[in-house]
Amino acid sequence: MSNPILVVENLRKYFPIKEGIFNRTKNYVRAVENVSFSVNERETFAIVGESGCGKSTTGRSILRLIEPTSGNVVYNGIDVLALSNKELRGLRKEIQIIFQNPYSSLNPRMTVKKLLSEPLENNYKLGQKEIQEKVESMIDKVGLSRKHLDRYPHQFSGGQRQRISIARSIITNPKLVIADEPVSALDVSIQSQILNLLMELQKELGLTMIFISHDLNVVRRISNRVAVMYLGSIAEIGETEDIFNTPFHPYTEALLSAVPSLDPMVKKKRNILKGEIPSPINPPIGCVFQTRCSKVMDICKKKRPELIEIDKNHKVACHLY
Ligand code: SF4
Repeated sequence: MSNPILVVENLRKYFPIKEGIFNRTKNYVRAVENVSFSVNERETFAIVGESGCGKSTTGRSILRLIEPTSGNVVYNGIDVLALSNKELRGLRKEIQIIFQNPYSSLNPRMTVKKLLSEPLENNYKLGQKEIQEKVESMIDKVGLSRKHLDRYPHQFSGGQRQRISIARSIITNPKLVIADEPVSALDVSIQSQILNLLMELQKELGLTMIFISHDLNVVRRISNRVAVMYLGSIAEIGETEDIFNTPFHPYTEALLSAVPSLDPMVKKKRNILKGEIPSPINPPIGCVFQTRCSKVMDICKKKRPELIEIDKNHKVACHLY
């Protein structure tokens, strides 16, 4: 395994809740709580979990699209949280994000040519001919045609728009791409094409990818390693096949038992999650999963379990281990 290109340590993001005429902070939404992981060069690292678990906030905090409350983010030896705004703008050509919704992430008044030229004009000193060549080469790479360059986003289907978003994200030649639910707004048949495109581009360009998703089937297909998040924290982290074949955390087990098997002969025992996800404003003391866990013990209500390695490259935060 190659070296980590990104190290995230004890990342926290609390959103203040303000009230009253003096707009005082009354409480916080604890969206991300002490999240730590590293991402190796050229791997796809997935962050998976239900809606509201903090996975997208984690992704955006790495890029400082949302300012983290505390923690460390080190990219290629650079302390990202210590950068000035100007330095951060420089870094953003190396770390790019692909958003979930290709309908809102593309400026409707720009042609595809302008959408793809703009990041090059903003980040590099290139002549028009060079920009034209890079734009044409990129439109070929993402499987669209050069005749599409003079069209506007509304003239494309959802899948084609996501191809344009991907092209815009990678045209600056980034090393790290954060893909935030990049296929969840698309039809299932189109999802597969976009996943294939991302996998091909990753291989061809040597990209490192953080892939954020709620869809376990998609994650299994695309990622090398997975972190499972619940209520702002990592419950389990490991290599994809280990997580899917031998999940340790009761939450991971429950999530996986709900995924339909592709083999009709395989009958799965479903472990249905009961109860509501607690509020991230007042998370429970101890294990945050205790209110829904079928194996809850006394200690789970008193002490928060730490993420510990219990098998090679496989860590879990649970008092059962
Ligand atoms: Fe369940 Fe306790 Fe493990 Fe939390 S620490 S997942 S409550 S057994």
